[in-house]
Amino acid sequence: MTNTYPEVWELDSLFSGGSDSAELRTHLEATGNKLADFEQAAATFDVPNRTADAQLVAAFLEQTSDVSVDLRQAGAFIGCLMAQNTEDKKAALLQSEHALLRSRFQSAFLKFKQVLMETDPNVWSELLSTEDLQEFAFVLDEWRKEAQRLLSEQEEGLITSLGIDGYHAWSELYDLLIASVSVQVDVDGEDKTLSVGQANNLSSHQDASVRKEAYDKLEAAWGEKEELFAKTLNSLAGFRLQMYKKRGVDNVLEEPLQMNRMKQETLDVMWQAISEHKQPFADYLARKAQLLGKEKLAWYDVDAPVVENSQSFDYEQGSEFIIRHFGKFGPELEKFSRHALENGWVEAEDRAHKMPGGFCTSLPKSGESRIFMTYSGSMSNVATLAHELGHAFHTHALQPMHDLNRSYAMNVAETASTFAEMIVADAAVKNAVTKEEKISLLEDKIQRSVAFFMNIHARFLFETRFYEERKNGVVPASRLNELMEQAQEEAFAGSLSEGHPHFWASKLHFYITDVPFYNFPYTFGYLFSLSVYAKALEEGQGFEEKYMALLRDTAVMSTEQLAMKHLGEDITEKGFWEKGIALCTKDVEEFIKLTAEEG
Ligand SMILES: [Zn+2]
Repeated sequence: MTNTYPEVWELDSLFSGGSDSAELRTHLEATGNKLADFEQAAATFDVPNRTADAQLVAAFLEQTSDVSVDLRQAGAFIGCLMAQNTEDKKAALLQSEHALLRSRFQSAFLKFKQVLMETDPNVWSELLSTEDLQEFAFVLDEWRKEAQRLLSEQEEGLITSLGIDGYHAWSELYDLLIASVSVQVDVDGEDKTLSVGQANNLSSHQDASVRKEAYDKLEAAWGEKEELFAKTLNSLAGFRLQMYKKRGVDNVLEEPLQMNRMKQETLDVMWQAISEHKQPFADYLARKAQLLGKEKLAWYDVDAPVVENSQSFDYEQGSEFIIRHFGKFGPELEKFSRHALENGWVEAEDRAHKMPGGFCTSLPKSGESRIFMTYSGSMSNVATLAHELGHAFHTHALQPMHDLNRSYAMNVAETASTFAEMIVADAAVKNAVTKEEKISLLEDKIQRSVAFFMNIHARFLFETRFYEERKNGVVPASRLNELMEQAQEEAFAGSLSEGHPHFWASKLHFYITDVPFYNFPYTFGYLFSLSVYAKALEEGQGFEEKYMALLRDTAVMSTEQLAMKHLGEDITEKGFWEKGIALCTKDVEEFIKLTAEEG
């Protein structure tokens, strides 16, 4: 049999020789030299004070992008080395070497932003309208505003240096705490010692007693260490709040909203629309409880399978399936994905010592991407492959843009990936042969809605309420449990017989210091992407050009502007969000119909 689609990726064309690559060594040295020049240029860059300075700024921007591209090219390659073999010690060394270069780049770049802040507002708007700089008007303005929100260079420098041990260290401590937790669970008659990750995987185990035991053991483990987790969360949050206070910021959502280039009112109406349409998803959970022979679902039943789906696709079949269905949406997506799959952009082989999970990374210097995952033949693997190809397609659509105009935010990052995944998930439901297959595939889709509209909503409610209370002092573990249970009760619309009070201790996302509020952008991205998908269904193949234009603009305007320009939609209106939710509701209706005779 011929292998049209290699299962092992091709990295040698990027830098030959893996973690021993001489080519990479030369590249890193050259990047180090460029970086030294860049640091010098940033340190001596004068405040632009007349329109004619536009050329100087433009030249500096080219230098910035040149260093940044080289850095990211190396970073992406090293990331691939790390992922393909977790035992590659040399790759780990390369990673720390690269991290050092990257942090030097970031401090020099911050200096430049602070210089921009000094420019007189009138000169500034003239600068942005010059031929040299108009292309960069959005990002330049964003950088300047970002610098304006910060304190003086000295004060920010102090925060950064104290933050290493006083802020980020709490996040690192959390990783250590999690790693120290293990539980004993009886799985299929065997007593096993499991890490948190392994125990969490049992949440989709078929046997209810296994799910319950894993959950109970984990809850007990969190309970035992709750004071340690509470101290960690309170300290991390306390640092963040103090930092905001010094910068004159009272609303904890201000920074995450700015990072996601969106307005508070947009976020508010999104949650409002979701809150008003919980009922169908509560109905789904009630039906699921019935199918599992329960009055109401407990937390540990939400991910349980309701039917067995033994469908399996080899890699060749999975790839063909994706290409065929992408083709129905547009020739470019089809052509691009075929190229990526045929030319070794994907690492899919199921073998030992690979990192778990999946990702897509872009190699800006080569204009290529690489996709990492472990493919073992399930429909959900096919969906993951489609998802990652969607990310790669986004990067592809951004190719005509200047490198500095390609940094999109987290909330729109998942647009192309969710879109691609949706094409495949829908096609899979339509192609299902047996009723069991259909139910199982539909459920996969609905589970995403439950995750984004209920689980993530609970995280958001908890986090906003916790931060408000934290402003007045330390919030004890018992209160954190209470806040979490209330948030889950509300977000799951009372559908669960019992929640997960220590969820705040179990979820890494509350402890990420680099990205505050690592929750609502997921829900935003999902619904935003659904509405793009709905448009695509309406307009057929002709939509692709518009779709690519939307992707191209994802890093040069606010989210509100993006939706208005490319979808003609006002996302500060509830109606926009309701359209996406309605698509998900249809899946629930079909699920309820299909399972009517089963219960
Ligand atoms: Zn993704």
